[in-house]
Amino acid sequence: MKIMHDKIAVVTGASSGIGEATAKALSKLGYRLYIGARRLDRLQEVAAACGATALHLDVTDAESVEAFVSALPDGVDILINNAGGALGLERIAEFREADWLAMYQSNVIGLARVTKALYPRLLAAPGGVGHVVNLGSIAGFETYPGGAGYTACKHAVRALSDTMRLEWLGQPIRVTEIDPGFVETEFSLVRFSGDVERAAGVYAGMAPLTAADIADVICWTVTRPAHVNIDLMVVRPLDQARVDKVYRRN
Ligand code: NAP
Repeated sequence: MKIMHDKIAVVTGASSGIGEATAKALSKLGYRLYIGARRLDRLQEVAAACGATALHLDVTDAESVEAFVSALPDGVDILINNAGGALGLERIAEFREADWLAMYQSNVIGLARVTKALYPRLLAAPGGVGHVVNLGSIAGFETYPGGAGYTACKHAVRALSDTMRLEWLGQPIRVTEIDPGFVETEFSLVRFSGDVERAAGVYAGMAPLTAADIADVICWTVTRPAHVNIDLMVVRPLDQARVDKVYRRN
């Protein structure tokens, strides 16, 4: 008789945007989900919608990561390293140190911290092969004035993804990086400290990607046969040719 196992997925930053959409999409594929973020009320709403276990998580805090991971099962099939984002748009001559430190803590060190903590569980993936999916960005290989704090972080994510693949060669863990262009989520609202008008201006007159578009791509990468590793996927809106080259209809 075939022994069935639960497929386990962990999504960081699942209280909104891409993380929320990915949790919902993975649950439809039959994964048992553990989701983390700081806003527990929002996270619990997502958990209720997709039968997930909601756990408080601040990836910038080592103790929080430790508590989060200790509540997970011993084996995990998929880790979606999604928590992160941008803060501000100041040029290098005027950058705000607290913003840059916070971006590094969440996008770069937080990603590495969660991955390190889950590594033994990924090696014990119930399905036999673990899979880490890192949310990078087109900011991981393009730059723009005012974007250096964030682009440097996402360039670092590219280095982390490549290094994971090198260090784990011969081990049963796949590593994928997803690099989206503009996705309309709470990303710009967070970047501009809750300024709704400024955030809306980012997507004015163009058709951005949706969080569901990226969730769809993530689901495709994790459902390839176990010997296939999708290294990197760049996904842009049709209206965006470069991070700073956007076609607007008005
Ligand atoms: P979002 O709607 O703002 O979602 C960000 C998520 O990350 C939230 O759930 C937030 O939850 C969580 N988060 C932030 N800091 C965290 C921390 N310290 N600990 C735990 N969770 C944290 O933005 P999004 O667009 O979905 O962003 C998701 C990822 O995609 C990010 O890595 C972002 O850089 C990347 N990305 C976005 C775009 C885009 O255009 N939107 C493009 C390329 C890449 P809490 O605040 O509740 O903790």
